[in-house]
Amino acid sequence: MSETANPPASGTADEAERHRTRTRKHKAVVDAKIAAATIDKGLLLVITGNGKGKSSSAFGMVARMLGYGRRAAVFQFIKGSDDIGERAFFARQDGCSWNICGEGFTWETQNRERDIAAARAGWAKARAALADPAIALVVLDELTYLVTYRYLDLDEIMPAILARPPMQHVVITGRSAHQALIDAADTVSSVQDVKHAFRAGVRAQEGIDR
Ligand code: ATP
Ligand code: MG
Repeated sequence: MSETANPPASGTADEAERHRTRTRKHKAVVDAKIAAATIDKGLLLVITGNGKGKSSSAFGMVARMLGYGRRAAVFQFIKGSDDIGERAFFARQDGCSWNICGEGFTWETQNRERDIAAARAGWAKARAALADPAIALVVLDELTYLVTYRYLDLDEIMPAILARPPMQHVVITGRSAHQALIDAADTVSSVQDVKHAFRAGVRAQEGIDR
């Protein structure tokens, strides 16, 4: 039987008191940390790692931002023809611009020159978004691959990101994030691949994987 995180339903009065004291102390520590965090700023977030959940996390933040009536711009590098559910949804939302900037992975397109041209054209549009203070959130989905494949140089990417409007948030996703991106970021998460249904022969499922 698996253990649960909750304390047992029954217990002595002593246990209940100890639990109250412990949670009170914990709350005081958390409250103090919350009170000490007073800065508002545009964040750079990097969501990397081999596990599933990078792009869908970024798109979750798009939903949050649009929920506040603010604007978001998504740039989907690499991904090409095969449509994903988020695009079908977000492209019809007010305040969301969705840009497909790639034609698929190189091993699908077999045409490096065309991939590079698509990446560069996408980056030019992304750079314009990174200079627009009216856009509260810019998602650069799968950007890390442009660096890995040398379609784009970090020397081109970093200045645009660092010079963006001070309150604009940027989320970068993709495996093997370059150290310069990690160093520049405020928040970095690495999603660990513990298990994936694909390895058991399950194909990408609508609404879950795409
Ligand atoms: P998601 O878009 O679901 O958040 P992701 O952005 O973390 O996934 P990508 O590397 O961009 O992951 O791959 C996207 C697609 O590949 C999704 O269909 C996802 O389920 C699948 N995928 C992600 N990680 C793995 C993995 N470790 N093994 C097999 N398939 C994976
Ligand atoms: Mg992804």
